[in-house]
Amino acid sequence: MFNPNKKYGILGLARSGIAAAYKIKEMGGKAFLSEVQWKDKVSGSNQLEQDFECEFGGHTAKLFDCDEWIVSPGIPLSIPIIQQGKARGISMISEIEFGYQIKAEDSKIIAVTGSNGKSTTASLIYHILLGAGKKAILAGNIGDAFCGYPINQPGIEYIVLEISSFQLDLIQSFKPNVSVILNITPDHLNRYESFDHYAASKFRITENQDGRDYAILNLDSEIIANHIPMIKANQKYFSIQKQYPETDAWMDGKFICFEDLARISMYDLSLRGPHNHANVMASVLAVYSLTGDLDAAIQNLKGFKPLSHRLELVGTVNGVFFYNDSKATNTDSVRSALMSFESPIRIIMGGSDKGEDFGNLTDILKAKASKVYITGETEGKMRQAWLGKLPLVCISDFRACVRAAFEDSLAGDTVVLSPGCASYDRFQNFEHRGETFRQIVQEIIKENEKN
Ligand code: ADP
Repeated sequence: MFNPNKKYGILGLARSGIAAAYKIKEMGGKAFLSEVQWKDKVSGSNQLEQDFECEFGGHTAKLFDCDEWIVSPGIPLSIPIIQQGKARGISMISEIEFGYQIKAEDSKIIAVTGSNGKSTTASLIYHILLGAGKKAILAGNIGDAFCGYPINQPGIEYIVLEISSFQLDLIQSFKPNVSVILNITPDHLNRYESFDHYAASKFRITENQDGRDYAILNLDSEIIANHIPMIKANQKYFSIQKQYPETDAWMDGKFICFEDLARISMYDLSLRGPHNHANVMASVLAVYSLTGDLDAAIQNLKGFKPLSHRLELVGTVNGVFFYNDSKATNTDSVRSALMSFESPIRIIMGGSDKGEDFGNLTDILKAKASKVYITGETEGKMRQAWLGKLPLVCISDFRACVRAAFEDSLAGDTVVLSPGCASYDRFQNFEHRGETFRQIVQEIIKENEKN
């Protein structure tokens, strides 16, 4: 628990670490800030040095003078300083755990995790709550950090948190009123010993929950369904494949249905694809379990706009549609993209490797892609997985690759950037990659207006 006499070590000075440091200061505590990057690479480092004791360019033994460490989700737990801290018995928590320890008692937490769909679902839940006139915040991996809000003051009714497995790795007492597990599919295998270790991290979201809490679970996921007996919270299930009464939310033709015959047509929503119908089900069940008002939750779904970089239509040229799905950084999200279009698409893939087996996608690409345009660091690995099995083209230059997909297209075709990889091989982040794609599409639009 928070103790102003404790000295906190903050490892990693990105958004969440900085927010935790300022929260500790605001509450009268002491923080020592430690960052591997050199000072000139850390934004706002001069101000941080004025406000805190800091070190840049590496984590040193100075950290051992701290009583507890708050470790940024970007720091692998395998690095030497973490191992040394563990050996000395130093308590290590994530910023999410710290925020939970200091939050006001009257705020209820809805925490969303999964391999894919977290941002969309957390944003949907937030949208529904705001529509119902609730005082809510959206925090965690999306929006501001948890500790960036006045969470230690009363008055926030609902805190919606998007939570990654890295944040769950270092929880202790974190106990959301509602947890949502959307799906668990291979991702971040470069950071975990195995898929089972990664899945175990995700399940920690329910670990401290009890009979006063709710868990919203995807019944279509075998690994989640198998974990059900271990969960002590009340449970509500959603499924694209199963029907009532096995599940609390299901598909019936074009309708997304909930108990008591409440339903919404998928055409009343601006989100496309079965994966998004699952996100809608999870969001409604999460809000309903706390408010008890199903109709209001469904009504307040309307007007939600898809987030940028997630199957976002960014332009149409000569009847060719361009979708930006730059946030698709693993193979399961690419699968969702492929399932979201009726006719085969031209798909642009590749980026920095997260350790996945691209062979997983061979069958669905055969069925749903007219051609795969490969670019980026994973070019060789993807070519090896698909050569002779799929129509392929490898073009290292990103702009040239997008243009090639357009040159090959006829009116009515769809070109989708859905990389299935992280973006760090040549972009700052997925937003930078998506914006670059958008600019290239704009260039193509302009050139074709002139002709
Ligand atoms: P996250 O925050 O978990 O990365 P996002 O909502 O940002 O999730 O979506 C990331 C990618 O995953 C996008 O390409 C999106 O189209 C896809 N996606 C969204 N929801 C799901 C889902 N429920 N299952 C599989 N893929 C999804």
